[in-house]
Order: sequence, then structure tokens, then C-alpha cells
Amino acid sequence: MHEFSIVQSLLELIEKNVKENNGKAASKVVVEIGKISGVEPHLLEMAFNTFKENTVAHNAEFIIEIQEVVCLCRNCNSEFSVENYNFICPYCRSLDFHIIKGRDMFLKSLEVEL
Ligand SMILES: [Zn+2]
Repeated sequence: MHEFSIVQSLLELIEKNVKENNGKAASKVVVEIGKISGVEPHLLEMAFNTFKENTVAHNAEFIIEIQEVVCLCRNCNSEFSVENYNFICPYCRSLDFHIIKGRDMFLKSLEVEL
């Protein structure tokens, strides 16, 4: 399950941030997951709860926010969000676009206990 390795790097990043801020622990962790990032929110949460023991994040509140998929049409230059995997520009019906949001997962914010 690749959520395990994601959580391990996430915890390393949290650890590093807490240290840099001379904090004692992380009190709140907010991650954003793109709808098509391939990361399953419930698996991520489960992995986080499994690995957080003995880390600075063991008491942290873990919040997952889902990021919508946003595309930019190469044909008419419009930005549009994608629902139900309906990957087509709603303005000009073009299929020529690139995805600008929704593919990644990242640490959005972190609260550090000093
Ligand atoms: Zn278009």
C-alpha cells in the first residue's frame, strides 16, 4: 500500500518542520489530497494513525482536505473544474487541456506546539 510510504515521508517532513521551529510536537496536521492523486483518504488516515506513534505527531489532529481537479483548456484558455471524471472543456468541448490541480498531495498546514 503506497499510503504507508507517503505517510513516512509526511512524518519526516513534519518532524523537520517541528525541529526547525524549535517545537515540542505537532498539534495539527492538514494535508490536501487531489481527487486524482491516487491517494485514498481513509487509507492515508489509517497509515497516519499507525505510524504516528513515537513521532512528534502522535497527538496531532489529522485533517484531510480534498482538492478538486482543475484543468486549463489549451484550445480556449479557460480554467474548469472536473466533476465525475468528465474530462472535457465545458466551454468549447475540447479534449486538449492540462491538469493544473488535483494530482498532488501535500502538507497544507502544520500547527506546532512550542
Ligand atoms: Zn476550451
